[in-house]
Amino acid sequence: MRTTFLPFSKPSINEPEIEAVAEVMRSGWITTGPKAAEFEEAFCKYCNAEGAVALSSATGGMHLLLAAMGIGPGDEVITPSMTWVSTVNLIKLAGATPVFTDIDRDTLMVSSESIEPLITERTRLIVPVHFAGAAADMESLRKVASAKNILLVEDAAHAAGAEYYGEKIGHCGTAIFSFHPIKNMTCGEGGMFCSGDPDLVERVRRLKFHGLGVDAYDRAMQGRAPQAEVLEPGFKYNLTDLAAALGLGQLGRLDNFIEKRSRLARRYQELLDDVDEILPLAVPSYPMRHAWHLFVIRLDTERAGMDRDTFMAELKKRNIGTGIHFKAVHTQKYYRETLRLPEGALPATEWNSERICSLPLFPGMAVEDVDSVVAAIKEVLA
Ligand SMILES: *Cc1c(COP(=O)(O)O)cnc(C)c1O
Repeated sequence: MRTTFLPFSKPSINEPEIEAVAEVMRSGWITTGPKAAEFEEAFCKYCNAEGAVALSSATGGMHLLLAAMGIGPGDEVITPSMTWVSTVNLIKLAGATPVFTDIDRDTLMVSSESIEPLITERTRLIVPVHFAGAAADMESLRKVASAKNILLVEDAAHAAGAEYYGEKIGHCGTAIFSFHPIKNMTCGEGGMFCSGDPDLVERVRRLKFHGLGVDAYDRAMQGRAPQAEVLEPGFKYNLTDLAAALGLGQLGRLDNFIEKRSRLARRYQELLDDVDEILPLAVPSYPMRHAWHLFVIRLDTERAGMDRDTFMAELKKRNIGTGIHFKAVHTQKYYRETLRLPEGALPATEWNSERICSLPLFPGMAVEDVDSVVAAIKEVLA
């Protein structure tokens, strides 16, 4: 058994990144400034995106998008319930209606077939998730959305560095990335809004800083024009230069992080292949580069004779941390009590919600750590 605790995720931060943050601290300008601008440019270049706005979180990005589109009462937004709660919370807070689509049972991804029947006159937005770092099948989703003239916004919180048919997620369309510490790269907290629609990029840029129509920092001004006026009421979701300095370092190492994650994921797949109670997610067969944000398994609770939460507790006793990504949104207290969806409304989502578990996966892990996780799993199931 392991003698040290293995968390399910841990950021990889190196000395040059610490030094880059310290340099910003010494510079006299620590909030949004030249580093945030540099980070936006570098991220655009990495993804081959047309426009990017650095933000304090992906949640902030989704809020700004809903605000920019004027989504409110009477509007419907289609999203999986197998997602992080932030999307649904924001739809709700905007006064709009979340419409849940079920997912593929083994990739946890939405499909055009599951979404199409849910589209109504009121549908304003569709939010697929690139689950666990695999790319959603965007081609068919784009077809459905564009046929009905509905905006598609990719929840790319798991997908920095992921590719679909050889192109980075973020390269086209509209995508929102997260740099929360568990994600593939981190700023501490942060996010990036990418879009090929320059008007949308400008709206989001304006709304992220009080609606002032200026960034929090203007290069030419060496700061911000003190005379700037509110063009429309906005929010405050700008990314600090402290965070951007870390983000720049992480972006430079993202491909290396993904290589390491892929190696560990392959090891898990090999070792778990003959463990009948453990069902790793399926990897979609279309051409893509998996960013391996998470290694998600489902516990076959019937075969194991144990529920998922017991399984997690037993692993914890053996010094192994795990996570749940995600408990379906419609099964959480508030949404259970207000939406009152009948049980079985989203069968694949509910099946997974009860059985899902994320195993430790981060670039600083050794192959031997994977071996110790699988050994512990076998012991728990024995
Ligand atoms: C982490 C996450 C978010 C939110 O990202 P933040 O940067 O923490 O706001 C949104 N969607 C999904 C699927 C996530 O995993």
